[in-house]
Amino acid sequence: MFDIIIIGAGFAGSVLAERFATQQNKSVLLIERRQHIGGNCYDERDENGILIHKYGPHLFHTDDENVWKYLSKFTDWDVYHHHVQAMIDGQIVPIPFNLNTLHKLFPPPLADKLEAALLNRYDYNTKVPILKLKQSTDNDLRYLADYVYEKIFLHYTEKQWNLSPENIEGAVTARVPIFVGRDNRYFNDRFQAVPSKGYTEIFKKLLSNKNIKLMLNTKFSDVMRVDGDKIYFLDQVFNGLVIYTGQLDDLFNEKFGSLPYRSVDMKFETLNVENYQQAATVNYPNNYDFTRITEFKKIHPINSPKTTILKEYPQDYQRGHNTPYYPIFTEENKNRYDQYAAEVAKIKNLIAVGRLAEYRYYDMDDIVKRALEVFEEISKQNFNV
Ligand code: UDP
Repeated sequence: MFDIIIIGAGFAGSVLAERFATQQNKSVLLIERRQHIGGNCYDERDENGILIHKYGPHLFHTDDENVWKYLSKFTDWDVYHHHVQAMIDGQIVPIPFNLNTLHKLFPPPLADKLEAALLNRYDYNTKVPILKLKQSTDNDLRYLADYVYEKIFLHYTEKQWNLSPENIEGAVTARVPIFVGRDNRYFNDRFQAVPSKGYTEIFKKLLSNKNIKLMLNTKFSDVMRVDGDKIYFLDQVFNGLVIYTGQLDDLFNEKFGSLPYRSVDMKFETLNVENYQQAATVNYPNNYDFTRITEFKKIHPINSPKTTILKEYPQDYQRGHNTPYYPIFTEENKNRYDQYAAEVAKIKNLIAVGRLAEYRYYDMDDIVKRALEVFEEISKQNFNV
């Protein structure tokens, strides 16, 4: 028998498996429904040797030194600063919208005037969420906000979420702020890099301890079930710790209704050209059904006469048919999530951790940090596993 059962081999489940196995010598069963580890961070080389991110571009960035140090035990890094551009009115411009973008899109006298208005109101090198800029009382700032909102945020967000920016939690569009400065990088964090051999290799190392037993191709419901305040594993009550990182509504057979997610159809194309675009990612807010194109060679450089690109087509999530990528944060959905979370709290040996299980828009560093914290919390409680 096992001390701990973890469901899901993404960052939440894998970091916790590693911690319990190596720090407390616990035996861990890790159950994963896919045929591979790594969750949505999974990457692999395609037929041309180009390292591709199967579930969309993953760029590691963090300000958290602990997270950086922890992951550095499992990988070397290639320093990498992500650059994103957008196609706006036929022009390729830097994203986040910054002072360079401003000068590319507006004629010099107007660009100078708008820059002065921004610097009059905000400090240099600061970030302003678009929804905040839209509330400006200054006429120039409001003109600029309306322009950026319309050209960069409105239609992209409608495509991505099937909602307008006002109808989704402000934190979502605030991820890509207006940047009052000239730094064209997508992120400003202290640590920015990609793992030298890719993400999947990190997961292999995380899970390499002999105390961890991995069961791929196995759904939670194949081997476990929740009944009242008990969890059953292969029809026997399991009293050890259970860490669940999947969709919470699945765990409770959707008894309060389903938790909606947004999905994306990831369409890869291999092209017979050495280079396709200038930046790793180019966003297309206003045209086409896809939101963005990512060229993987720009993230993991390789000599090849070919290149692989990814077009992301957002779509509704349909259980069992596609991948739940993004929780859709509306008041109604959050309330429904809280009902499920209350059910989890009733089961004393169950915890729910991760982007799916917590219904949160966690970045990779956030979830590693969260998993490390959960490990510390459980260790303090001295959970009897
Ligand atoms: N966004 C946008 N236009 C852009 C880039 C982002 O409207 O050119 C909005 C959109 O709502 C998106 C959110 O900002 O879902 C967060 O973007 P991010 O690039 O962080 O999304 P992720 O890489 O997590 O899909």
